[in-house]
Amino acid sequence: MNISKLARSIAASPTLSLNEEARLLRQKGEPVINLGIGEPKNKAPIAAILSSAAKLNTGDVKYTPPDGTPSLKKAIINYTEDNYNRLPAPENVIISAGAKQSLYNILFSILNPQDEVIVLAPYWVSYPEMIKMCYGIPVIVAPEDGGFYPRMADIEQSTSSYTRAIIINSPNNPSGALYPASFIAEIVDYCERRKIYLIMDDIYHKLVFDAKKWAPGYAYTDRDIDNSMLIVVNGVSKLYGMTGFRIGWVIASRRLVEVMTNVQSQTSSCTSMVLQSAAEGALTGMQSIVENLRLTMENNRNIIVQELKSFTGIRTNIPDGTFYILPDFRAYSNKSVELSQFLLRKALVVTVPGKEFGMEGHLRLSYAGSVKELMTAIERMKWALDPNTSNEIYIGDRKLIRDWL
Ligand code: PMP
Repeated sequence: MNISKLARSIAASPTLSLNEEARLLRQKGEPVINLGIGEPKNKAPIAAILSSAAKLNTGDVKYTPPDGTPSLKKAIINYTEDNYNRLPAPENVIISAGAKQSLYNILFSILNPQDEVIVLAPYWVSYPEMIKMCYGIPVIVAPEDGGFYPRMADIEQSTSSYTRAIIINSPNNPSGALYPASFIAEIVDYCERRKIYLIMDDIYHKLVFDAKKWAPGYAYTDRDIDNSMLIVVNGVSKLYGMTGFRIGWVIASRRLVEVMTNVQSQTSSCTSMVLQSAAEGALTGMQSIVENLRLTMENNRNIIVQELKSFTGIRTNIPDGTFYILPDFRAYSNKSVELSQFLLRKALVVTVPGKEFGMEGHLRLSYAGSVKELMTAIERMKWALDPNTSNEIYIGDRKLIRDWL
């Protein structure tokens, strides 16, 4: 069978495949706890449901313009004005099937073969694969101190004449780190001066804890959107718990949006009108749902940090935001893929190997689930790894004895 070399070289999304593995185990009746997947548990906002149901009820569900419906664009423009203090024109906005497709469209539209894109480690798994899918080269920049906050000096050193873009994601998946405002100011200035696109993946921007403040990139440039190198990505998946609705968007210069619109018109045509209505409902409805989610995640963050403190040998950062934490498990293993498989087999807990995010020796744990699940999962992980804990545990209604330490 002939499969293209490029397609063959693309790895499966590890989080989606782990999720599938967990689903199959659950189907067999195994009491698996999934700390792998990044999605909040809450139901979609009622405003989103009502607005999409109203559209569906008309039975008149057709193509929309390739860049999105004018009314969702209007809601996104208002959202951008409220949260970014910038007023884009409708021609600066394009709506896609999730931030994932938005990012792919951007990379497809700005990269020539062999162009380089700087990706800051730890990074979201899909960035390097998407860059490769567009015949570009991911250049990974990891902080020398093994920490989670990038340094401008490292980025400058990794910039070459082929550097076309830098992707940043703050607050960050997988570490939960919120990059300091001083860093955002520096990188915005650097990209504007060097004419390098700065792709800002803001998908978690309101999930920030400890009264810390997220700062939009636009705060640090005087250029208008059409003359700026900033490309902003956002969506409803995380903040509104609407991962299954698949709506994301990009704010960029008219020229880039025009090209992305042509690209999208030749691939998916547009995203579903029904789902665009849902996103419009979420953006224009009551916003307390986002604050409630933020408070829940901050509470979950506090609990998981507390639980990890009593886990022998584990070193962890304290996430500033998102619903992920990336503790260092090197006290137990340097091989995160094997460790993650061991924990799934022995403790029935899904974790994501840090290797997938450029952070070998770490595991990413999502704390978007319930407090009970979180506490049980960490208890099981301790039982499987930590010799200072009891060697007996109940997993579901089975009593297990640890006999491997
Ligand atoms: N960017 C980051 C950093 C993410 O974590 C995710 C989802 N895991 C996405 C983009 C994609 O989100 P969407 O569901 O809107 O495609």
